[in-house]
Amino acid sequence: MDTNIAGRLSALRESLPDNVTLVAVSKTHSVELIKEAYNAGQRIFAENKVQEMIMKHGQLPEDIQWQFIGHVQRNKIRLMAPFVSLIQGIDSFSSLVETDRQAGRFGRKIGCLLQIHISSGDNKHGFVPDECISMLRDGGWRSLENISIRGVMGMASLTADKSQIFEEFQALTSFFHTVKDEFFRNNSDFGTISAGMSDDYGLAVKAGSNMVRIGTGIFGKRIYAPTDKKG
Ligand SMILES: *Cc1c(COP(=O)(O)O)cnc(C)c1O
Repeated sequence: MDTNIAGRLSALRESLPDNVTLVAVSKTHSVELIKEAYNAGQRIFAENKVQEMIMKHGQLPEDIQWQFIGHVQRNKIRLMAPFVSLIQGIDSFSSLVETDRQAGRFGRKIGCLLQIHISSGDNKHGFVPDECISMLRDGGWRSLENISIRGVMGMASLTADKSQIFEEFQALTSFFHTVKDEFFRNNSDFGTISAGMSDDYGLAVKAGSNMVRIGTGIFGKRIYAPTDKKG
């Protein structure tokens, strides 16, 4: 593996098909390291803590697209609403409503991905697929004009079993198509399948992902401060 960020980024870009968007997961990493990736041409970065994203947004170039990939706490949506481009972890109708309300206050339109629970593990976040379908059938989302539902996001189980991981990613792709057919057939905004991280993005792409979220594979290992574990 290349030892510098620019080298890792270019190797990653070469390994990914053209239709796959590379999201650089910069959580815990310094503004300096993000600048290195920026100078190597990367423009999409993702964070999982609102305060950290706000701090970095304030210190880095304006043309960065910031995405939020953590669990979405409704009371924090207003803090990121002025600039966030995509919220990946939407797992309730009320989060969609709040994102719409806050985007409206700033005259913006915010992209949202519906997080779907595809893993067998204890990661409790995300819609159960059937819940997501009922939410969409209820139809309330159709009147939310300040958001754009752009697709789905999922995380595979933490397991060494590659065939299980692959099947979970395939389930996400197939869920995406089911939802696309029933609700978003004529909506070209709904086109994203966000799946795959440093260790499993190859499997995800093979299973149909067109957005990978890579942290370690770009920036190296994350070091968490002892007080930093939560929130
Ligand atoms: C941290 C994180 C990633 C990136 O993980 P790596 O293994 O470092 O690539 C991707 N997606 C989500 C939701 C994350 O929280």
